[in-house]
Amino acid sequence: MSHLSPTELKTHASEIWKSLDGRELRMKERLGIPLQEMPSQDPLVRCTNMNEVALGYSEEQVRVESARCLQCKNPTCIDGCPVRIDIPGFIQAAFDGDYAKSLGIIKESSLLPAICGRVCPQESQCQATCTVGRSLKDVGKAVSIGRIERYVADWGRENGKSRPPAVKPETGKRVAVIGSGPASITAAADIRKEGHTVTVFEAFHKPGGVMIYGIPEFRLPKKIVQEEIDALTTMGVELRTNFLIGRTRTLHELFEKDGYDAVFIGSGAGLPKFMNVPGENFVGVFSANEYLTRANLMKAYDSEHAATPIYPSRRVVVVGGGNVAMDSARMAKRLGADEVTIVYRRTEVEMPARVEEVAHAKEEGINFFLLANPVEILGNDKGRVRAVRVLRYSLGEPDDSGRRRPVPIEGSEMEMEVDTVIVAIGNESNPLIHRTTPELATDSHGHIVADEEGKTSMDRVYAGGDIVLGSATVILAMGEGRKAAAAINRLLDITQA
Ligand code: FAD
Ligand code: SF4
Repeated sequence: MSHLSPTELKTHASEIWKSLDGRELRMKERLGIPLQEMPSQDPLVRCTNMNEVALGYSEEQVRVESARCLQCKNPTCIDGCPVRIDIPGFIQAAFDGDYAKSLGIIKESSLLPAICGRVCPQESQCQATCTVGRSLKDVGKAVSIGRIERYVADWGRENGKSRPPAVKPETGKRVAVIGSGPASITAAADIRKEGHTVTVFEAFHKPGGVMIYGIPEFRLPKKIVQEEIDALTTMGVELRTNFLIGRTRTLHELFEKDGYDAVFIGSGAGLPKFMNVPGENFVGVFSANEYLTRANLMKAYDSEHAATPIYPSRRVVVVGGGNVAMDSARMAKRLGADEVTIVYRRTEVEMPARVEEVAHAKEEGINFFLLANPVEILGNDKGRVRAVRVLRYSLGEPDDSGRRRPVPIEGSEMEMEVDTVIVAIGNESNPLIHRTTPELATDSHGHIVADEEGKTSMDRVYAGGDIVLGSATVILAMGEGRKAAAAINRLLDITQA
């Protein structure tokens, strides 16, 4: 991570840009251009505020970073992108300074570029397959596709060029969309574009799914998500919040009482998993979901105006090694904890969290206690957490996921004194819709079973995103929403003819 200030990074890029002098660049020259680091808030300052950590490229930086792209004849980066954005196309337009064109190219495939440019795991997707990274034998030196995407998307937002898509004349057909995360937002927009009436039903009081209640403000400003939601309402999509499908209405009632012609289910994977160890009921044990929802959605960090209190923690253990664990640890630090430790049963190599998030967490002073896992949570006489007992592990042979299996070391138990334990070991799908609609087929994990087009076992019912894939990513959820929307549009076209 860079320790140069944003101004220094900008000046440095400006000098490089001048030296390129607008001439045709050979491959060797392009490979010699240094990777442009992302300017970020100083770690000591940012752990005391909720503002975005990464500050975004300057124009000088985006032009220089775009010059690193080789414009490959066989652009392998596109194969790494779940929605197959024309990456060399939008990078060339950014290099030329034609940001409107660049944004247009991205928007052909992705509806939420300002969000994806911030939270997509590019290092394991498009950037993992980039020729520059391979030529330099360092995937970390691949073209920073996500950062360029973010710049272009922000340019569009700031210059009023990010208008909602046009809507065709009304068809009279009606579609219900359950949930309002990235899968549902994409599906709702794509269906509405064809002129169908769309209603989004969201259980929470605010739409946006995990992008609003899970991913913290300091990684994804809520203003950006809200703008995408506003775009939906501008297109004429109706949003109904505090509306729980399976309680307020069943799936059947959406057809039989309300007369919808098709339904898309994008209800996500919001049910937290616990460790099932003794002591998980003590006061001071939270699921990451609850902790982050209180902090993000209910703004617990804003103590004067907060809708909910936050637990006053001093010493926190976060269990898990994914993005959710990093977000919880960094949030706990910002909420005033003195010491925050991530406890993970494998090593850093096996951690599913994004490399950048791990690096940011370390910079912010989060401790990492690896090859360890809690076996018991201990409480005091008031029923509050006072310690966790952890067992140490070594790494054995790879398991089904390809990652080396953690093997417990007998007799290695030790106690860590803490007052808060945040469990971030994954989520499952909420069973409510399935329970109230038993003919909706689910697999052994409770995920809704859907075919290539997102079609479920029920007539006119489609599904996509985490409810089908299990906990996945924003871009994969969007891809699923888009696929299902195309199938719903085809279905409604046929029934209209
Ligand atoms: P969700 O975003 O989960 O939205 C589902 C919505 O449906 C919710 O708003 C829920 O309230 C609503 N709902 C559920 N049941 C009902 C019902 N019965 N009736 C009405 N509404 C209902 N991905 C990345 O790509 N990059 C990251 O950096 C990243 N970080 C993450 C950090 C955290 C803390 C978490 C939890 C996840 C993160 N993810 C990240 C994963 C990503 O956010 C999800 O894969 C994605 O949001 C899934 O989208 P979705 O549309 O399927 O569902
Ligand atoms: Fe550019 Fe890398 Fe894609 Fe080639 S693979 S077009 S260098 S981003």
